[in-house]
Amino acid sequence: MAKDFLADVRDHYDVIVIGSGLAGLTGANVLAKQGYSVLLLEHHYQLGGMATWFKRRGGHIFDISLHGFPNGMVKSCRKYWTKEIADKIVQLKGIRFENPQFSLETTFNRDDFTKLLIDKFQVEPQTVQDFFDTARNMNFYDDQSMTTRELFEKYFPGRDDVVRLLMEPITYANGSTLEDPAITYGIVFSNFMNKGVFTFKGGTDALITEMREELIKNGVDLRIRSLVEKIEVDKNRKVTGVVVNGKRIGCTAVLANANIKSTILHLAGEENFDPEFVEEAKAVRVNNSSCQVYMGLKPGVGFDYCGDLLFHSEHRGFDIEAMLSKQISSRTFSFYYPETRPGSDRWLIVSSTNARYEDWANLSEEDYERDKKDLCEKTLDCLEQYVPGIREKLDWVEASTPRTFKHYTRHIQGSSFGTKFEGLKVSQDLPQQIQGLHHAGSVGIIMSGWLGAMNYGVIVSNEIDKYLTPSAATI
Ligand SMILES: Cc1cc2nc3c(=O)[nH]c(=O)nc-3n(C[C@H](O)[C@H](O)[C@H](O)COP(=O)(O)OP(=O)(O)OC[C@H]3O[C@@H](n4cnc5c(N)ncnc54)[C@H](O)[C@@H]3O)c2cc1C
Repeated sequence: MAKDFLADVRDHYDVIVIGSGLAGLTGANVLAKQGYSVLLLEHHYQLGGMATWFKRRGGHIFDISLHGFPNGMVKSCRKYWTKEIADKIVQLKGIRFENPQFSLETTFNRDDFTKLLIDKFQVEPQTVQDFFDTARNMNFYDDQSMTTRELFEKYFPGRDDVVRLLMEPITYANGSTLEDPAITYGIVFSNFMNKGVFTFKGGTDALITEMREELIKNGVDLRIRSLVEKIEVDKNRKVTGVVVNGKRIGCTAVLANANIKSTILHLAGEENFDPEFVEEAKAVRVNNSSCQVYMGLKPGVGFDYCGDLLFHSEHRGFDIEAMLSKQISSRTFSFYYPETRPGSDRWLIVSSTNARYEDWANLSEEDYERDKKDLCEKTLDCLEQYVPGIREKLDWVEASTPRTFKHYTRHIQGSSFGTKFEGLKVSQDLPQQIQGLHHAGSVGIIMSGWLGAMNYGVIVSNEIDKYLTPSAATI
């Protein structure tokens, strides 16, 4: 008989969390610690959403999105998870750029970038300082009409080399482009520049395992392989429950960690919202997706130090079209040394490229397999210059595409980083449309990435707390 993943589930919870991305997991943990009954429903067989991993024959463990996050994760993990989790966050010191315009390695923080911009790129010290101060002082309440392109034009006119240095890593980190509001750049860039780039020692599997244990300890009812099909809303536009794997479960509030557009248009249903709000939701643009190539070396076989993150490109200037093109000329290599997972004898490399869903969505199975193979081969050709003899060293290679991300996370168009900026307002306005319905997860670029998603989960769980216990919230 098929396993019932909802066995012994209760009839009613204070909060049902739909999805176990970092926003969903963190929101669930905060609410459970506040004493609410919480059910977390995840359609995949594994928790974490994009913050996940997979294993392959021969003992390889590949991380999907553990490439680098800002130091703010230390504080967020300590405050909303555990000290043990926070203590495993370590700095990545070797961030490399290799392109026709420059070749350099940096610790990717303000001091080092200041030095590079002045000494190597010959920018006036005052301009560098003004730029950093402007970026650091940007916040959500600022004028949002200035684009990132205009910000760069103001400080570094005609300097496509400087723009590339400042922009390329951020585009990889959150999919933003020069046409997005400058604040989306300023906030994320400054988060990184604060102290540099960090990772989790032990890998995503260790992180999510520790989070799972903490959730269970705090009383969260966790269910995997549980696909929410519907959010139930009564005639007074109040959330009353969800339908999951065909079963109805009641709740007072929902925290949806699914894609914001899916939450509104598919799970809750257009008929439950004001028509203008539905139009606003439909107009939200999703961010681009990604392709990755995962390469596992034979046990004990390694390579000379290549840095931790390497931004490789073969064309001049920052060019978003080239970065999204299926004819790949830009790649980010993440090099994982055995120290990533203490005790391991594995060297792994993951190559990531930004990608368009439509380039992969409608291929026949045959063409899809052919193009994935081609992606692997071209990636290995490129990698050969950094890891000579890579093909002989390899034990495993495979690729993922926007289709893969869509399949596992159900994000519209396999979006790696949620939505463009306008998605944030729609996400925040949700409870004004339907009482008790809240959303947290990658939206608006600034709420994307590990840190953004996690912090948004906290912000929204505090809103849910106010909804569930209004008197306590005003004390
Ligand atoms: C290739 C790649 C590389 C990345 N690299 C980095 C990086 O280096 N640093 C960084 O900070 N960020 C990175 N990111 C982005 C980061 O991983 C995400 O922004 C973040 O993890 C998203 O968290 P989230 O809470 O929005 O939820 P998601 O991770 O999007 O998870 C949503 C969850 O909801 C579940 N779900 C959806 N619908 C339903 C339903 N109806 N019923 C039940 N469950 C449902 C999904 O299965 C999923 O588990 C990367 C992303 C990708 C794809």
